[in-house]
Amino acid sequence: MTNCTFCGAAIEPGTGKMYIKKDGSVLHFESAKCQRNMVGLGRVNRHVKWTQAAANAKVVAGHAAKAEPKVKAAPKAKPAKAAAAPKAK
Ligand SMILES: [Zn+2]
Repeated sequence: MTNCTFCGAAIEPGTGKMYIKKDGSVLHFESAKCQRNMVGLGRVNRHVKWTQAAANAKVVAGHAAKAEPKVKAAPKAKPAKAAAAPKAK
């Protein structure tokens, strides 16, 4: 089972359209809406709200924004107290 090249939705076997570009790359579309957006209108799926790629891009951007403000070096590990307290019997 393949996924739509534009929106990322699963394509049910026997449906959809395989579009082959002049350069040989193969695109799979589950609806005419997706084909029109990508081939006809030349839209980038990351910039179209209802696609999976846009959702993924949003998640990645969110993580990057959270990670950026505080990037400190990890504190140095304290020396282990292995030999300090031998077991008494
Ligand atoms: Zn699609």
